[in-house]
Amino acid sequence: MTYPSQDDIVRVLTGIALPHSDMDIVEAGLISDLSATQADGGLHVQLVLEIDPAQAKMMETVQHMAQAAIKGIAGISDATVILAAHKQAPSGSKPAAKKETPFKQMLPEGIKSVVAVASGKGGVGKSTTAVNLAMALAQSGLKVGLLDVDVYGPSVPRMLGAIQEVEQDEKGKLLPIMANGLASMSIGYLVPEDAPMIWRGPMVHGAIKQMLFDVAWGERDVLILDMPPGTGDAALSVAQQLPLTGVVIVSTPQDISLLDVRKSIAMFQKVNVPILGMIENMSYFECPHCHERTDLFGHGGVLRDAERLGLPFLGQIPLDLVVRESSDAGTPIVAQQPTSPLAVHYLEIAARIAEITTLE
Ligand code: ADP
Repeated sequence: MTYPSQDDIVRVLTGIALPHSDMDIVEAGLISDLSATQADGGLHVQLVLEIDPAQAKMMETVQHMAQAAIKGIAGISDATVILAAHKQAPSGSKPAAKKETPFKQMLPEGIKSVVAVASGKGGVGKSTTAVNLAMALAQSGLKVGLLDVDVYGPSVPRMLGAIQEVEQDEKGKLLPIMANGLASMSIGYLVPEDAPMIWRGPMVHGAIKQMLFDVAWGERDVLILDMPPGTGDAALSVAQQLPLTGVVIVSTPQDISLLDVRKSIAMFQKVNVPILGMIENMSYFECPHCHERTDLFGHGGVLRDAERLGLPFLGQIPLDLVVRESSDAGTPIVAQQPTSPLAVHYLEIAARIAEITTLE
């Protein structure tokens, strides 16, 4: 089953008129947040309507109507509509119409395509792969952006060795951090690393939206997304809201991680995101001294899974201390030793991705 998109929901909400007004609730700019989580085989939609507190009583009818209307959409298992006080609305005045709905089924300005790097679970090397692939694409002459969507565990600042503060341009847009040939953005640049981060659904959603649309990305042939692991809210919301060119799935060869991977693939397929292929990370270990190869995690599991699922296998990356050390040092292997056999693994996979997605 395909889930309804934000646009589908917004379309239904345009059918709900604002009392004593010739506007509907969308036109009137009342929608301040619209997010969804997966629940009971459908989407649980949460809608926040920003209202003038003086009209709270009257707006309860609108609240019930919106709730019923959303629940009536196929693929929605539940809906919660919350009324929140409008911050500046002088009482009695008409709420100002906003020009656009809060969700944009469009690419951020200047960005030609978006490729997500995802995994079934954490710790399989998704971020390491995303960062090295982004650099490999940049080395092939493309203009590349890197967005750390992993708001719970941002690792892009550390991997890029970037600890600058984010500045704003004259229009108030955030300037991406330029490091290792990439334009990057991460919540790690915006919130101190040791700050306790207790994120609720709408906050995560808002943070991701801001990092996508309120950043002066400049002209980018491709934006690589380092996705949050698994199939949580943040991953689903990005998958539904952005016209993704496709997603690349990173996994280690163990069966247990492949189980999570299949769930993640199913989620992307459900929301019609093309799966560009699978990458096997920590595929095997080659002893740096005797060059004997050991298949630590049962090499080849991802290739077999890709074949079974009818997906392209994009390549494998060995387990190598240098991969970890170079990332920890802030100059990932592709930047540090671009001609090394290890970097070539990433360059070849990047070339395959560029070919499949016809990046130019
Ligand atoms: P994830 O994004 O999936 O949580 P990370 O990219 O943060 O995973 O990687 C987890 C750890 O594994 C990091 O310490 C990273 O340096 C290390 N790592 C990732 N890929 C490799 C590899 N091919 N060889 C050695 N270490 C790796």
